Amino acid sequence: MRVNGLTLTYEGGINTVMGYTDSSYPVGDLLCRIFQGETLYDISRIVRNCIGMCPMRDNQLTQDEIEEAERYILATLLYNDFFPAQRLAQGSFIRCMEEYRALDSATATSLLSQERQRTANFDWLFDDIGFGTVGEFLRLCYNNYIIDLRNGIDLFSATSAVWSGTATEEEQAFYDELCAALYDNSVVPGTVMQTSYDAINGIFEYRFVISSFLSMVVFEFSHMAESATKIMRCQNPECRRFFTARRSSAKYCGFPAPQCPGRMCNDYYPQLVYRERVRASELDRLIKNAKGRLYNTRRRHHDQASNINKILSDLTIYAPNKKGQVLDGTMTMTEFREWLDSH
Ligand SMILES: [Zn+2]
Repeated sequence: MRVNGLTLTYEGGINTVMGYTDSSYPVGDLLCRIFQGETLYDISRIVRNCIGMCPMRDNQLTQDEIEEAERYILATLLYNDFFPAQRLAQGSFIRCMEEYRALDSATATSLLSQERQRTANFDWLFDDIGFGTVGEFLRLCYNNYIIDLRNGIDLFSATSAVWSGTATEEEQAFYDELCAALYDNSVVPGTVMQTSYDAINGIFEYRFVISSFLSMVVFEFSHMAESATKIMRCQNPECRRFFTARRSSAKYCGFPAPQCPGRMCNDYYPQLVYRERVRASELDRLIKNAKGRLYNTRRRHHDQASNINKILSDLTIYAPNKKGQVLDGTMTMTEFREWLDSH
């Protein structure tokens, strides 16, 4: 069986991706990059479109046609931003094709009836699937690819939420459910370990070929469990993405900030918080000055004391709300000053 997928080595908390100028990523970092953002959706849309446009789609399924179809799928996934995500997608799809092409006809028939039942439950799966034509076969493989992808994303999100200590009750319950399912080792597609001997340096080298999104998540979390690296959730309220860090005091991620995509959260957000604090204290000062003026007036005009007390209490009640409006941008500074002056 042909093995295709993301090939990497793992040593001392570092993944090194092969065939891609050998880039290295601290444990967990690849997960955060692959499973967040648009990359996987873009890839899956490309694959879906390519299946629809496949020139062999109406041909009868033969071993030769499957060879041709595999080359076609690999070629459609050559162009994407992020090489490791692309390799995982290719691996997941080709693994399904390789597993299915090797089935005897009785197993294929029973598998197909199970797959047809599944398409009845999920409207996002193709239902015209089978072993008759190349098109039917590719759609069957796509269904399995997309289920593998969803399983991977679900496990990544639930585990990250729980391990970062930020899980909601639902996320915790979902995590418990997924972990219970993982106890059955047939659920997670196997990862291939390739061993080679480096005669010059006299050492053995191990590399892994990962051909499933779910396996990738399990692979990474199993290493993270025994490393000092932690998974954290970005405290920028508009981001909330997961990231990895060695310091448990890290607060913000190193991905583009949703409020300002040209800058990273860990650079942009602390500055934003600082500026807001400065602005808030400036607003507090203006409110204090306005009250001070009213106290002075009350001292000079005893006859108007009850009227001024009323104005002062209005100011105390409404000022925090107006201040909030300035900070969230629904009121300008000039309007705020005018509102204060009207008292
Ligand atoms: Zn962030």
